[in-house]
Amino acid sequence: FDEHENNLYIYSLTDITEMSYEKVEFEYKAYNDKLTNVYNRAKIDEVIDYNIRLSQRYKNNFCLIVIDIDHFKNFNDTYGHQVGDEVLVLFAKTINNAIRKTDIFARWGGEEFVVVLPESKIEDAINLAKYLRKIVEKIEHKVDKNVTASFGVTQYCEGDSAAGLFKRADESLYIAKEKGRNRVEFII
Ligand code: GH3
Ligand code: MG
Ligand code: MG
Repeated sequence: FDEHENNLYIYSLTDITEMSYEKVEFEYKAYNDKLTNVYNRAKIDEVIDYNIRLSQRYKNNFCLIVIDIDHFKNFNDTYGHQVGDEVLVLFAKTINNAIRKTDIFARWGGEEFVVVLPESKIEDAINLAKYLRKIVEKIEHKVDKNVTASFGVTQYCEGDSAAGLFKRADESLYIAKEKGRNRVEFII
């Protein structure tokens, strides 16, 4: 109460702890895949758009790896969807632990995953893909001891759209599948 002006004021305090928890949870759900907990497609789309803007401005390069588990349909048909889900979780965890903190790994959908390597050259991306291919081969699920994946690698080229970048990575993945799977192919 203000004696001189006869005005009344209400001071209000809000506990923001709860609000910030909700925000974190909301963001987590928006950017992470429900099954594997790694990043999802929405996150990757943002990461790629951001890296394209960085490249346009500073001319720095970045690369994209697309990863597709081999013959996963057969696997589901043989062992069931439940075991398939377990393999997806194990697969995502294995790769997430193998990459550098600066690389962004996400489940693109189904049995397809992607890695974005900011500030990197095609050689770095090829080497990482080759390393990951070996790591995947060593995955030991109690039912299926024979998980393999194919890898398509490309780098950002001036003028690329996100769709153009993905198209090239998918083309190299297709070549890897055609050449017999469990291998790395790249298009510069
Ligand atoms: P390729 O080597 O050519 O990639 O063969 P593929 O069988 O892996 O490829 P295809 O695209 O024919 O099949 C993908 C399979 O992935 C089909 C579907 O049952 C399975 N799949 C996709 N999402 C999930 C999922 O969330 N859980 C499980 N268990 N399976 C999934
Ligand atoms: Mg596929
Ligand atoms: Mg597949």
